[in-house]
Amino acid sequence: MVFDLFNLDQMILILGQITLLILGGLLVLGLVLAVLIAFSIRTGHMVFPHLFLAGMALVEGVIRALCGLLGIEDTELTEFVIRLHNRLNQAKFDSIPAKNKAIFLPQCLRSAKCPAHLTPEGLICQRCMLCGIGRSIDNLEAQGYRVHIVPGSTFIKRIVRAEKPKAIIGVGCLMEVREGIMLADRLGLVAMGVVTLKDGCIETLVNWADLNDLASGGRDNIEARPAVGATQ
Ligand code: SF4
Repeated sequence: MVFDLFNLDQMILILGQITLLILGGLLVLGLVLAVLIAFSIRTGHMVFPHLFLAGMALVEGVIRALCGLLGIEDTELTEFVIRLHNRLNQAKFDSIPAKNKAIFLPQCLRSAKCPAHLTPEGLICQRCMLCGIGRSIDNLEAQGYRVHIVPGSTFIKRIVRAEKPKAIIGVGCLMEVREGIMLADRLGLVAMGVVTLKDGCIETLVNWADLNDLASGGRDNIEARPAVGATQ
């Protein structure tokens, strides 16, 4: 009996030590990744992208907390994760023909005077040229993309189910793009995200140069470019 209690105490001690070791290891991993991420964000040079993604999956909460201590805001980190995701998906995305790819634009990008009406496929742009969509949509469609202007994720899910694209580009605010990428990952779609430069419900902005680079497979190192230079 005394022998059993001795063994139990030893087992609890060993388990406690293992737990501490794992927690310590995760903390060190989080700290190393937080420092590397802060460096990447501040310098625009993304180092060890595969390590970041694996680390975020393991210890995202720790990394977010430590990045906060290093002066990296939550929005900066989310933007970084989206750029990281784009970078890791870029080769796969480029290998898929444009006819198998779709672009989803949020309806908030259009002009407040937009004459387009809502259909089950989203808004059908009338090319009135009151917003950047009218000036870019023909170029994107000429490359083979199916471009949809949608009011929300319900439309995206329905269109994806109907058209079955292999890859998509999603434009939206930070959280929409983040959630859209996670949804696309679950659906097995290769997703690329472009974050709008201005949030809101009407007349938002996107960097059309970034979107066109992404769509055409341009090697303009989008992830290193700051989110400036909006063209409506
Ligand atoms: S260009 Fe198209 S989307 Fe933009 S306001 Fe005109 S009809 Fe609407």
